[in-house]
Amino acid sequence: MTRKRTARAPAKDPRAPRFDTVAIHGGQEPDPLTGAVNVPVYLTSTYVQSAPGVTKGYDYSRTANPTRSVLEKSLAEIEGGTGALAFSSGLGALNTFLWSLPSGTRLLAGDDLYGGTYRLLEHARRTWGLEVEYLDLGDVARVRTKVRSTRPQVVYLESPTNPLLKLVDLQAATEVAHEVDATVVVDNTFATPVFQRPLAFGADVVLHSTTKYLGGHSDVIGGALVFRDRERLESLRWLQNAAGSVPGPFDCFLVLRGIHTLGLRMRAHAANARAVALALEEHPRVERVLYPGLPSHPQHELARRQMTGFGGMVTADLKGGLPEARKFLSKLRYFYLGESLGGVESLIEAPALMTHQSIPKAEREARGIRDGLLRFSVGVEDPDDLVADVLRALGR
Ligand SMILES: *Cc1c(COP(=O)(O)O)cnc(C)c1O
Repeated sequence: MTRKRTARAPAKDPRAPRFDTVAIHGGQEPDPLTGAVNVPVYLTSTYVQSAPGVTKGYDYSRTANPTRSVLEKSLAEIEGGTGALAFSSGLGALNTFLWSLPSGTRLLAGDDLYGGTYRLLEHARRTWGLEVEYLDLGDVARVRTKVRSTRPQVVYLESPTNPLLKLVDLQAATEVAHEVDATVVVDNTFATPVFQRPLAFGADVVLHSTTKYLGGHSDVIGGALVFRDRERLESLRWLQNAAGSVPGPFDCFLVLRGIHTLGLRMRAHAANARAVALALEEHPRVERVLYPGLPSHPQHELARRQMTGFGGMVTADLKGGLPEARKFLSKLRYFYLGESLGGVESLIEAPALMTHQSIPKAEREARGIRDGLLRFSVGVEDPDDLVADVLRALGR
């Protein structure tokens, strides 16, 4: 696949280590005390001081913990940021970011977002006086008009979006937002830095639910913010310590272990997702399939330009809507019915009834989330088994 080099993406230093190397070594050295190749899990809440205020850099584990520090360095390295903060969950990361905004801040958000993100933004709008507007950010001309007329201070987006897998042109949207000095926050949970680097396109902050692909094994809840500039990192670090949504050291260890195999897993997820998407697309009982890697995706060209792979998520509508979708769900063997995504095992869910039910029905339908819509998180099982499972459940 050819990739157009963007004006903002810095030319790659040929001697710089590649992603899979950074994922294993970036910000990580063997333990200086014992030589352990992995950072120990520092199960401690406090640290002894040799005299009042004299520490080895750690005084209390809400403020900082050595296992968390290594995870934070790794997160910064894989996203290409100046620093990162690890949180107790993706929403904990978003909540801390929102707390940093003075009341009255104007925030322009994409109109297709993780359900919990929408719920928290709406809460902030109703109770803290955050001025939130939603817009389909896929149309750059409309984004430009909106940004120039309302002058938002924050632009918040997902690309690909959840669950409709719509894309936002990251470079164009960032340029428009920066015209009015808005901070651009990109939730990169779906693409992961393996396939997309928002900071390289000019974004200011990257958010992750590390619960998903970064952790990768459906065994931990976590979140992260990665920053382009140090000033914002330090002010959010202060707020995180003040507000307290920190991950425990064992959870940090699990996320770090997941990051070590992120490249391997993402390539397998993407290959399997493509196989499942093609099988669905060819099937007469399927109404539409959304996968950025298929030429039928309305923004396939943009996907090729700003992503180096298309991820592991596939969305589809079956003919016959919800009743047919329910039958299909009951017949699957390897795709477990469940919320969440990004683990090694395949999952499937119906967003309107599950992850996105906090969005009112009329609002959901206006956004294209029909009741029978299905969202597949394609795992890393053998692709032939996954395709056979889908075909069997569809009934040939
Ligand atoms: C899951 C998810 C979140 C929320 O993260 P949690 O770790 O569940 O709090 C945010 N954004 C996206 C895209 C998600 O999939």
